[in-house]
Amino acid sequence: MTKKTHAFQAEVAQLLHLVTHSLYSNPDIFVRELVSNASDACDKLRFEALNDSALFEDAPELDIRVSFDKEAKTITIADNGIGLSAQEAIDNLGTIAKSGTRDFVSKLSGDQKKDSQLIGQFGVGFYSGYIVAERITVESRRAGAPTSDGVRWVSGGTGEFEVEAIERAQRGTSITLHLREDKTEYLSFWKLKSVIGTYSDHISLPILMPKEQWDDEKKENVLTDEWEAVNSASALWTRAKKDITDEQYKAFYKNLSNDQQDPLMWSHNRVEGSTEYTQLLFLPKKANQDLWSRDSKPGLKLYVKRVFITGEAETLMPNYLRFVNGVVDSADLPLNVSRELLQESRDVRAIREGNTRRVLTMLEDLAKKSAPKAAAPDSDEVTDVTDVSDAAEGHTEDADGYDYNAFYAEFGAVLKEGLGEDFANRDKLAGLLRFATSTTDTVSVSFAAYKARMKEGQDAIYYITGDSMAAAKNSPQLEVFKKKGIEVLLMTDRVDEWALSFLQAFEDTPLQSVAKGAVDLGKLQDEDEKKAAETAAESFKPTLDKLKTALQDKAKDVRVTTRLVDSPACLVVEDGEYSTQLARLLKQAGQTAPEVKPILEVNTDHPLVKKLLATDAFDDMAHILFDQALLAEGGLPEDPASYVRRVNSLLA
Ligand code: ADP
Repeated sequence: MTKKTHAFQAEVAQLLHLVTHSLYSNPDIFVRELVSNASDACDKLRFEALNDSALFEDAPELDIRVSFDKEAKTITIADNGIGLSAQEAIDNLGTIAKSGTRDFVSKLSGDQKKDSQLIGQFGVGFYSGYIVAERITVESRRAGAPTSDGVRWVSGGTGEFEVEAIERAQRGTSITLHLREDKTEYLSFWKLKSVIGTYSDHISLPILMPKEQWDDEKKENVLTDEWEAVNSASALWTRAKKDITDEQYKAFYKNLSNDQQDPLMWSHNRVEGSTEYTQLLFLPKKANQDLWSRDSKPGLKLYVKRVFITGEAETLMPNYLRFVNGVVDSADLPLNVSRELLQESRDVRAIREGNTRRVLTMLEDLAKKSAPKAAAPDSDEVTDVTDVSDAAEGHTEDADGYDYNAFYAEFGAVLKEGLGEDFANRDKLAGLLRFATSTTDTVSVSFAAYKARMKEGQDAIYYITGDSMAAAKNSPQLEVFKKKGIEVLLMTDRVDEWALSFLQAFEDTPLQSVAKGAVDLGKLQDEDEKKAAETAAESFKPTLDKLKTALQDKAKDVRVTTRLVDSPACLVVEDGEYSTQLARLLKQAGQTAPEVKPILEVNTDHPLVKKLLATDAFDDMAHILFDQALLAEGGLPEDPASYVRRVNSLLA
């Protein structure tokens, strides 16, 4: 075959024009793309050789060799994989076969600036060589073909390429990049080695480079004939679990996360089903500094067939599990997966769901192991840990003796965000929540444990939100619950009230804030008490009306309470309204909160309230009652100076 000139398919020409004219923010990616093609070519040879071992010729060891020539200003990436016939070179390097790349090209607008941004997010396979090269020479011979059937393909990346037959002894492909004048920084052992280390370390074949040696005459390092591997040639997650030690998992985690500590636990699974992927997920012991920063995002590393794609694949994990570290290696996503695709693809959605389920299961396991024996769930309780559609294999290893409460202290507040984010897993998440209560100081009580010790006749899970543990615990609203020995969950995380608004019940038992609506203790309140309260309300009616008038700017309503024992008054809001704390928090955060006018509830048995009936200073007393109720729950009187003046005049 004599030398023949061919025209590129129009789309390729368009793509090449863009590649050569774009300012790539990350030109390094050409190494990743070409090494990945070389690795694919070796995979293909291995596969075809299953039926025809002659294809290995006399060189069964597959590898990728990266070398450079400073004088000629070339880099060569060579593989001894399947190779290309002349026709394949014409077809595969002159047209775009991949639908992903074709879609990409069809999105090009012709607007140089916009297209440059778009291309920056893509790997464009073989053509990415033109980011750094003004000319590319490909020499190849298909495995099994005679040595006279070699092919040379040459192109400057503008409209045309030339193809001719050559004699070629080695099978496989070698791609030589003639570097552009401004890209000669790649003519360095260390530069290439470091780029390979970043992007292609996990390629399972050895990537070899010629060893460097100091030359006394030339006074510089020169390349020798000896080759050395510059990648570790084995991706940890692709190995069988039984071949990986705990120490290796831990070292891998530290590398991945930059965390100095061992991980809390990890889970390593090959998931097969509608989409195939490997997941290796780590839970840290301690939150890192970024956890609460506004743009903290989940960050799993995404690989496609062992080729590194991105270090921040946020769509592979929901935001509320952003503390999880790890690697996902997909067999189904295209190598040139774009941001858009990462957001829309069904495969990505399936992976995210699988990852979410896996993490929640890990946490359930840890919680179960950490639970004190007496409070452990019944052994016959069915816990949904099997992944039916994905048929995941493998199990979780965990660090000995670390308990769920320690994990929860670090990450519980983040986990709660999931109630508002992930409706599908709301019940699982609710099962993972822990709280302090009016009778338990440590944050360790689950809804299930609370339910197990509810009083006879109690038909709601009671909780109170507060700015601090002390404020919640000593809140006047708890008085009647304490008196009757009813446990109340204390919620003091900022996110609690928002998160709890998504959870009306836990396993059919409704959740009820003790600071919202009327207290309805249901069967817990006896008839006599109800009667007494009604009578008190009746006889106190004129005073209530006076109070309403005096406080009409502050209180939405004033009524007789059934919640208080020792305190004169407290504030409550209607069911479904923001609590006064939440309204305060929102205001502090500079957000607009609807104006909440609380209801003042008064305890007619209290001496101070009784005094109201006879006092001359009714107005002052009314305001003091209200402002004190506000103070008691951590708020501040609207006009502190007036409050002080009123109290002082009473004291005097
Ligand atoms: P992709 O790899 O995404 O299909 P590329 O543009 O990178 O797209 O490559 C186009 C085609 O060229 C490949 O599908 C493959 O058939 C062929 N090719 C590229 N590099 C090699 C190689 N090193 N050895 C054999 N074939 C190759």
